[in-house]
Amino acid sequence: MAGSGDLARRIRRAGVVGAGGAGFPTYVKASSPAETVIVNAAECEPLLQKDQEILAHFAPDVIGGLELLMEATGAAKGVIGIKKKHGELVEHLSRALKGKPALSLKLLEDYYPAGDEFCLVYEVTGRLVPQGGIPIQAGVVVNNVETLYNIARAEKTPVVDTFLTVTGAVKSPCTLRLPVGVSIAEAVALAGGPKAKDCVALDGGAMMGKVVSDLSQPLTKTSGGLILLPKEHPLIRRKNAGRASFDRAGKSTCDQCSLCTELCPRYLLGYDVQPHKVMRGLLFSTADRKSWSQWALLCCECKLCSLFSCPESLNPGDICVFAKGDLSREKVSWKNSPLNRNRPPRAHPIRPWRKVPVSQLKARLGLADYEADAPLKEEAYAPKCVRIPLKQHVGVPARPVVAVGQDVRRGDVIGDVAEAELGVPVHASIDGRVSRIEDFIEIQA
Ligand code: SF4
Ligand code: SF4
Repeated sequence: MAGSGDLARRIRRAGVVGAGGAGFPTYVKASSPAETVIVNAAECEPLLQKDQEILAHFAPDVIGGLELLMEATGAAKGVIGIKKKHGELVEHLSRALKGKPALSLKLLEDYYPAGDEFCLVYEVTGRLVPQGGIPIQAGVVVNNVETLYNIARAEKTPVVDTFLTVTGAVKSPCTLRLPVGVSIAEAVALAGGPKAKDCVALDGGAMMGKVVSDLSQPLTKTSGGLILLPKEHPLIRRKNAGRASFDRAGKSTCDQCSLCTELCPRYLLGYDVQPHKVMRGLLFSTADRKSWSQWALLCCECKLCSLFSCPESLNPGDICVFAKGDLSREKVSWKNSPLNRNRPPRAHPIRPWRKVPVSQLKARLGLADYEADAPLKEEAYAPKCVRIPLKQHVGVPARPVVAVGQDVRRGDVIGDVAEAELGVPVHASIDGRVSRIEDFIEIQA
């Protein structure tokens, strides 16, 4: 039986971080007492399917990781939140959960962003995370599917591979398991290569992902999906437009209709997020803008308001992200914001009728034509070279503990952090020789 300290130590040494988003070190979550552990299998970024593929092929590992985390946190309940539309997978998981009374499935509707942690906590437990808080304050720990898979395997294998869906303008959309540090270009080649000229990759999904033009960039532990699209695709042009253009268009065109707020998933849960007020702030001087910008502090950056809600095709979600950055530089946070009146959130009664179906979102994004199955390709891939970033997670970057010319084996620690620091080690993902050390460690096979 693993105590919370044992599991936390083990998954820290194995380098387990949230395998999506910013990569929060998982050992911190394993050290917090909780009532419920939720597996986030909502996967609502259009076209991405890696969580479905991991669950279809490795359900016992994911369930094993869930049970370990429940034991470490003392949680009495474990719940897998998955969309009802995945009928076969739901049946597969129901069979795998038979005889495990503490574990259950929560079937979710197909809306975006069902996988937002605060939405998921509310759907599963009926509780709302306090304003400015985190799920553990509602007694809940949330982890994604791949993170739990990595927890289950941590005793034997550190995190040296990453799962990702490669889809969009590629010849054979698929899900891959690749060594960390392989380039995006290699992943695209393994998916049959581009089927259009001048493509760029959306790393992390259409909604929350970022545009990557340099395909020599390496995959990290948090890579979950690449959508290849022609540079001229409207979604790419929109994402590439930049702050000055977002500000200019927002100032001149926003008519304060407030639809961005009316459909905002955090606003509908009762949080003090109002993107139309952040947009209003664009009309003020930098000093006066600050009070309007604070309506962005609790934004989860889902970008629904930018890419779906605004009838003028403005970018309130992006403006909110910039506003949060400005406020953080001025040391303004929810804690010291005048908006924070310790008001508990209360879900809006109209919320059930304001959920945005993923099918509509896909059409709005111009991605409906790229809809395709992306099955897991099981063949192992042996790269000639990998570049493993020293910072792949929230916290301090790992410091190299190897030297150029040193031979390493897959799984060896090549970068580490001190015990007292927030962070995790990074490991060699292939056997080979260290050939370069910068803010990454390059290994030649
Ligand atoms: S939906 Fe668009 S036009 Fe309406 S308030 Fe929001 S940003 Fe302005
Ligand atoms: S990105 Fe827009 S819709 Fe999403 S939470 Fe932020 S303000 Fe709300």
